[in-house]
Amino acid sequence: MFKSGYSLLCILLLSLYSLAQSPTGDTYLLKAGKIFDAEKGVFLTNQAIYVQGGTIKGVGANLSVPKGTPEFNVPQATITPGLIDAHTHLLTVQRLDDNLATDALLHSSEYRVLRAAGLARSYLEAGFTTVRDLGNSGQYLDVEVAKAINRGFIPGPRMLTSGPIISAMDGQFYQLPFKDQERITKLEYRVVNGAQDAALAVKEHANNGVSVIKVVVFGERMGVSAEEMKAIVQTAHSHRLKVTAHATSDNDINLALEAGADGIEHGYYMADSILEKMAKKGVYLVPTDPSTHSIIEVEEARHIQKHDTAQIKSMLAPLSDRLKRAQQKGVLIVAGSDAYFEVRSTRGNAAKQTLIAYLEEGLSPATILQTATWNAAKALDLGNQIGALRTGAKADLVIFNGDLEKDFQKALFDVKWVIKDGKLVKQ
Ligand SMILES: [Zn+2]
Repeated sequence: MFKSGYSLLCILLLSLYSLAQSPTGDTYLLKAGKIFDAEKGVFLTNQAIYVQGGTIKGVGANLSVPKGTPEFNVPQATITPGLIDAHTHLLTVQRLDDNLATDALLHSSEYRVLRAAGLARSYLEAGFTTVRDLGNSGQYLDVEVAKAINRGFIPGPRMLTSGPIISAMDGQFYQLPFKDQERITKLEYRVVNGAQDAALAVKEHANNGVSVIKVVVFGERMGVSAEEMKAIVQTAHSHRLKVTAHATSDNDINLALEAGADGIEHGYYMADSILEKMAKKGVYLVPTDPSTHSIIEVEEARHIQKHDTAQIKSMLAPLSDRLKRAQQKGVLIVAGSDAYFEVRSTRGNAAKQTLIAYLEEGLSPATILQTATWNAAKALDLGNQIGALRTGAKADLVIFNGDLEKDFQKALFDVKWVIKDGKLVKQ
């Protein structure tokens, strides 16, 4: 009896001690072994970050802060701005042996929203403090989840939303009987017919409070026309909304660029001339590339036991080639995972595999982190608020155990704390 009472006291004291060891208040000084300067793309040693009321109030080696400010020292850790995933689908989970349409057909909106709450939490705990959700979200379920997070009803990253993806009648639901395709597509997409209807679709989205317009330039059987695309971009820009286009190859990308789209999602196959055009127009690229590990997880989910890593590598080679060329041409690269498969990893960790893919493709840890912080914030029009550890920015921070610069692959998955708007959200 005495023994168990004693150990209970010990546990209580230990947990009080550990509470005091993490920044639970709203004003504190964090002293780190290493921090990541996202703007310059460099790691700095022995820096401190002063946080007050949700905002970063100072960053530097010799900060003077008010006497009595609680200090937290993490000499073995690396601090980065909160990570940003510019391409996700919190309302969709696709089982690998099912059609993408199955999720929408089998599950109620209520179920999908509750499930999204769980995925949002997993994102936050992995270190993502902002995500951009690009559709397959029923009819504005993404906007509802974003509101609940914003109001503090559920934990999750700051969420930017597109509402239903604008598409031609085929959307992205593959291999459906042609006679049923439009009927089923309409459950998840905003199918447009003609330029006037395309403009109307954007106005509907603006009224429903989306933060970005997403268009599938080419779906399974057909795509939007050049006139429709122009009407979409023009109307979106007049509503101060940016347009990002799902486009995988040159013709579709060019159609989007000619219409004035602001971003390209995927862009798997890209000629130099297209990359040059993007750089000139200031259009960003979100390369949603898989890592070797994520392909193996997909194979496992498909019950494939033997993995041929040499074959996976050669399959991924064209992606790494276009990523390098995009970088050389000066295209803004923005990290986006496009994570929606049901795999073994949590959603937050699955999303990080895109950063591992960039590592495998030859980018340095600093360049990779820039794509998920500084570059992403710029593409999302939030450059003055998030994506950098600097005075005046929102205090969105990830504290990684270990050295992200020297041991990226290990430290990336070893998150000590996550801070969003100055508040500790993962301990
Ligand atoms: Zn996607």
